Amino acid sequence: MHTILLLPGDGIGPEVVTETRRVVGWFTQNRNFSCTFEEDLVGGISYEKHGVPATDAMIAKAKAADAVLFGAVGGPKWDPLPFDKKPEQGLLKLRKKLELFANLRPALCFDALKDASTLKPEYVSGLDILIVRELTGGVYFGEPKETTTLPDGQKRAVDTQVYTTHEIERIARVAFELARLRGKRVASAEKSNVMMTGVLWREVVSRVHKAEFSDVQLSHVLADNCAMQLVRNPKQYDVIVTDNLFGDVLSDEAAQLTGSIGMLPSASLGAKDPKTGKQPALYEPIHGSAPDIAGQGLANPIAAVLSFAMCLRYSFGRAEDAKLLESSVECVLAEGFRTQDLMQPGMAKVGTTAMTDAILKALAKLAH
Ligand code: NAD
Repeated sequence: MHTILLLPGDGIGPEVVTETRRVVGWFTQNRNFSCTFEEDLVGGISYEKHGVPATDAMIAKAKAADAVLFGAVGGPKWDPLPFDKKPEQGLLKLRKKLELFANLRPALCFDALKDASTLKPEYVSGLDILIVRELTGGVYFGEPKETTTLPDGQKRAVDTQVYTTHEIERIARVAFELARLRGKRVASAEKSNVMMTGVLWREVVSRVHKAEFSDVQLSHVLADNCAMQLVRNPKQYDVIVTDNLFGDVLSDEAAQLTGSIGMLPSASLGAKDPKTGKQPALYEPIHGSAPDIAGQGLANPIAAVLSFAMCLRYSFGRAEDAKLLESSVECVLAEGFRTQDLMQPGMAKVGTTAMTDAILKALAKLAH
């Protein structure tokens, strides 16, 4: 029996997590998937109740669970809060405490949506990239991180980009291992031309490749060039591995290739316990809390639903079920169902619940 912790969060988070729970329910009823749910608060709603965006009790539940399904956090109401109380800190704390060092973001273009991309359909049709971003190191966490006042009254702000061999080795291994299950190609993106961390990154990735993964093809690309190549010819890539900052930027860029932010799932994984085999894992749509449409039944639930497909694949070893769920989403889009963010002329506009109804129907159809 698996334990799944639901953390709906703020804005449209609860709406898309509710729909995802219905999809999980379908798998428990029809595919022999047994799980129990826990639920807790995170983000702004946690701040309202507990005065902090992530309580220690919630973090303990997340550690104990086999997987966490996260919605989204944040909203204008909490923008004026001090930095450490902001809803987004709840997510950062989860990532840090669970040591979720590997962020997996697929950028997959469903055929039915190839016209929704800002790139020409021939560049995105069949696109299937996986970006593996280092998530717990680098410039977002490096010390010193401070603003000081200089004698002449100017301010001076410092962020520190820092990586150790171990941090690079473990993210490189994740990327190579995933590439083995896909197109067997990894592109490693850094700035070794101008950054010491880039030089170390390239050295370590090359060494891990030579020693353990010579069956996978490795190429190195400067991160700025990678950004350009993603809009020039994105299909040249299979897996891209990169650091926290470049990964943040490159994965958002790749997201845009596929049309809508409401479509894209992600997984954040920690290290497997060598004794128990247990691996901390959090699955979330890449979109935020979308305060502009929250509470109106308009949110696209697909990113959250596809995050559960990733959960089936990576946490529960159910690749076939993951594929079934992805195919159901593909089927629903091919049938012309669209939430407003994807709406195109001639298609059937549906809300959050009706989109999930259609996915559940497609699951039932494809499973038989
Ligand atoms: P956002 O992703 O919430 O919204 C951007 C735009 O995309 C909006 O117009 C929104 O309506 C639309 N959109 C997003 N998800 C959608 C969906 N599932 N269906 C249909 N349309 C969708 O980004 P933002 O507006 O920059 O941020 C809003 C809040 O979310 C902020 O407080 C921000 O800090 C927070 N945020 C949280 C996360 C997270 O929880 N992981 C990520 C990004 C932003």
